[in-house]
Amino acid sequence: MPRSWVNWAIAQIEADFQRSADTHLIKLDLPALPQIDIYLKDESTHPTGSLKHRLARSLFLYALSNGWIQSNTPVIESSSGSTAISEAYFARLLGLPFIAVIPKSTAQKKIDQIEFYGGRCHLVEPKDIYTESARLAKEMNGHYMDQFTYAERATDWRGNNNIADAIFNQMKRERFPEPRYIVMSPGTGGTSATIGRYLRYQQHNTELCVVDPDNSVFFEYYHRRDPSLVSDACSRIEGIGRPRVEPSFIPDVVDQMRQVPDAAAIATMEWISGQLGRKVGASTGTNLYGVLQLAEEMQQRGESGSLITLLCDSGERYLDSYYCPEWVAERIGDVHPYREALHRFSQTGRLTAPTPQEATHA
Ligand SMILES: *Cc1c(COP(=O)(O)O)cnc(C)c1O
Repeated sequence: MPRSWVNWAIAQIEADFQRSADTHLIKLDLPALPQIDIYLKDESTHPTGSLKHRLARSLFLYALSNGWIQSNTPVIESSSGSTAISEAYFARLLGLPFIAVIPKSTAQKKIDQIEFYGGRCHLVEPKDIYTESARLAKEMNGHYMDQFTYAERATDWRGNNNIADAIFNQMKRERFPEPRYIVMSPGTGGTSATIGRYLRYQQHNTELCVVDPDNSVFFEYYHRRDPSLVSDACSRIEGIGRPRVEPSFIPDVVDQMRQVPDAAAIATMEWISGQLGRKVGASTGTNLYGVLQLAEEMQQRGESGSLITLLCDSGERYLDSYYCPEWVAERIGDVHPYREALHRFSQTGRLTAPTPQEATHA
């Protein structure tokens, strides 16, 4: 097989990367926690608007380097969300056809975004997206990217400018440059696999805490290690939480896992949007609620240090869901108790109400 097209294709992706800037690391200002610093790595500023820009770039480079994609290979993916949008961007960059296999119920707005980058959408029953993707790839002589299998291995975990490497570089001049915790929620699990391996390989003392939303099997899998676990319900937090154990989720590099209720995620999403002056997505709320719990515990133990999580995407994508009070009331439920907890956190650094004993000693 002649190598000239593949050489050209890789050069296109590398040039696109060279034109890109690193994403910001945003420091929060929380007077109630004077000895604890919290940072958000802002992945909403990639050209396609989410951390999936990194994944799509890695998956294309991995497939090209493996000889899986040639000059006319149609690229197929099972994704209705951010991954398909980012992959459509890279397929267009390389002049390749791109087809997203998506559930029939997918919102028109998302279909529009995939089509904006020249992708096509193939609508099927939700349960059929994986088998349909594989079938279509075979029929079209195409390549099925399969993010839920390859996300964990497409990125260089040793460093080479991956997200963990970038974070540690950006932390160099901070007062606590080695974070106590990095917190991430799993969709494919690819980002937490990269971070977890990097922390070990680079011999950092940082702990990786993974936070799982409602209706996801990852948390139970982490404790029971049963790969056949499935859930009937679907995650309500876009981008994270899965009804089956995805092969790209690597539990052995995760130091601890926590469950974050979706109502807490929504309240935290609103809270951080107020702090930043702009809207973020709901998975960022899940991430940050985990961070705030850990920060509160550090404060209670008298520890100082830094915590880092990801701002995964912008809230502008979710104006008619997470930012619509009627939608939240109907689909998520009562978020009010968490709003109160977060208000308390801003004032006192405590999410949980003080025990009666603590109150009398105060
Ligand atoms: C994919 C995604 C995640 C999870 O990242 P993974 O690396 O797939 O585990 C979190 N938030 C959003 C918005 C995502 O699209």
